Parts: sequence; structure tokens; C-alpha cells
Amino acid sequence: RARDAGGNCYRFFSPAMNQRAHDRVILGSALRTALASDRLRLVYQPQVSPHTGAIHGVEALARWHDPVRGDISPVRFIPLAEETGLIQALGEWALRQACRQMARWMVEGIGIPSVSVNLSARHFREPGLPSMIAAILQETGIPANRLMVEMTESTMIADLDSTIQAARAIRTLGVGLSMDDFGTGFSTLANLVNLPLNEVKIDRSFVDGLNRVDESRLIVNAVLGIGRNLGMSIVAEGVETKQQLELLDELGCPVVQGFLISHPLEVEHLPGWVRTWQQSYPASLARLPAA
Ligand code: C2E
Ligand code: MG
Ligand code: MG
Ligand code: MG
Repeated sequence: RARDAGGNCYRFFSPAMNQRAHDRVILGSALRTALASDRLRLVYQPQVSPHTGAIHGVEALARWHDPVRGDISPVRFIPLAEETGLIQALGEWALRQACRQMARWMVEGIGIPSVSVNLSARHFREPGLPSMIAAILQETGIPANRLMVEMTESTMIADLDSTIQAARAIRTLGVGLSMDDFGTGFSTLANLVNLPLNEVKIDRSFVDGLNRVDESRLIVNAVLGIGRNLGMSIVAEGVETKQQLELLDELGCPVVQGFLISHPLEVEHLPGWVRTWQQSYPASLARLPAA
């Protein structure tokens, strides 16, 4: 046994490491409980045209409020869900919530054309994913083209073939497919051609560099060109300043998303936001605060 080998082996697991591993187990079980007891919720961030202000859709983003620990960021709990095998359940939960919400918006006549849901790389390799999405569409009664799923580039490195298969099956349902955080992963341009994408989201690091870094502008422009050639929509993520918005509009970027337009909104605040945005449209774009 390790203990007999001179007693030094336990050094590999320092008290701090043990504490972290312990925390992860505790947090993982808290997440399991949260998922089972509806303590997770979705917030929705609007996406609009920088040219006309027209609302393109919203992205659903998961939030977790723990009664003891407070708000826990998805940057923390999504990887945790992946490690603890909860990511499929979380993905299904998010899809169902988002589709149910879209059904309500449609009944209430709120002008939100589509909702985007983030799915983890692992989930894309589950053979049951397309039929699960089909079941949720049927159950909630929303048209398939009101739903878009976002995948990240890291989805593909592990198993490109099964990812392409899942992507095709999802598109066959009529659901939209979006590549998230483009430019940050290990993808090649060839993947953009091989995957049946409707949309590519340019990572916010490139948007961030737009005013300062020549390369960022070059990359954004190149992705916009690819999008035009392949008939895909392009969304610029993380738009925070009016300068960025204007530059993206000049470059012909069809859709923007970011704190400048709106932070992710609690579901009850969406109808009000949409009403205000549409009432003051197109002046709503002009009235955005300058950088
Ligand atoms: P993402 O899908 O790229 O989502 C965009 C993130 O950028 C969100 O962070 C959003 O709040 C943030 N953001 C939006 N506009 C701006 C801006 O102008 N400036 C800055 N600095 N940030 C902005 P959030 O909500 O913390 O989510 C982080 C990531 O966690 C998401 O990145 C996504 O990868 C993941 N995530 C969130 N919800 C889910 C989910 O339901 N399922 C899965 N699998 N992943 C999720
Ligand atoms: Mg996303
Ligand atoms: Mg993103
Ligand atoms: Mg991201």
C-alpha cells in the first residue's frame, strides 16, 4: 500500500489539493440538487442588427443561485457539470426551459424571433441528442426555426465525425446551428465548410481588439467574408462600446450582442426591454451611450 512505501506518497495530495477535490465533490452534489429542484434559471441576452436595430434573437445563459454560496458563475459550474456527468441533464434542462419560454413569448406576442441555447461539447457526442431536441420541440409546440443551438470549436477536436453527424441531424429537424466563440478553439476554416452552420459567433476577444489591434479587424473582416460566401449569419460577441458597434456596422456585420445593447436579462424584464427597444427604434441605436 502507498502508506507502506515510506509514508511520503501522501505528499502528492497536499491538504490544499484535498480541500479542492473535496469542495468539488460538495459543489457537484449541490449542483445536482439545484438541477433537480429548479434552482437554476436562464437569463436572456438580446441580439440585434447594428444597422437597423431589428431584434435577431436572444441567447439563453444559465444562472445558479445557491442559498448558501450565493451566485455561482457558469464559467465555474459548466466545467463542474462536465466533470460530474451532469452536463447532459443540464443541456436538456436548458433546451426545455428555453423552448417553453419561447412558446410563452409567442402566445404573448413578444417580438423575439429565436432563442439560442449553449450545448457542451460532450453533449454533441451523445447519439440521443437530436431525438431529444425533436421531443422537446414537439412537447413545447414551437417551430424548429425558433431554436438555435450553439456549439463551441472544442466540440470537434475529440470526434469530428460524430459531431458532424449530430449537426446534420439537428439541421434536418429545422433547428439552427451556431458556432460559438469562433477563433479561440482548435478549429480550422475547413470545419466551417464541413459543418452545416447557420451562424458563426466571433469571440469577444476580437471585438475587444477592434479599435486597437489591426489583426482583430483583419480577422473580423475575414470571418464576415466567409459568412457572406457561405450564406451564414455572423454575430459579434461582447460589443461594449459604440465605437465597436459603428465599426462592425461599417464592416457589414449583421448581428451584434453585448453589454452595450443589453446585459443578459431576467425573464420578467424581457417584454419591457423589447417594447422599449422597439418603440424607440431606430433611435434606440443612436441613443446608446458613447464609449
Ligand atoms: P458564451 O456562450 O460565449 O456566452 C457569452 C458570455 O459573455 C456570457 O457570460 C455573457 O454574459 C457574456 N457577455 C455578454 N456580453 C458581454 C460583453 O459585452 N462583455 C463581456 N465582458 N461579457 C459579455 P456567462 O453568462 O457568464 O457565460 C459564460 C459561458 O458559460 C458562456 O459563454 C457559455 O460558454 C457557458 N454557458 C452559459 N450558460 C450555459 C448553458 O446553459 N449551457 C452550457 N453548456 N454552457 C453555458
Ligand atoms: Mg454562447
Ligand atoms: Mg460566446
Ligand atoms: Mg464562451
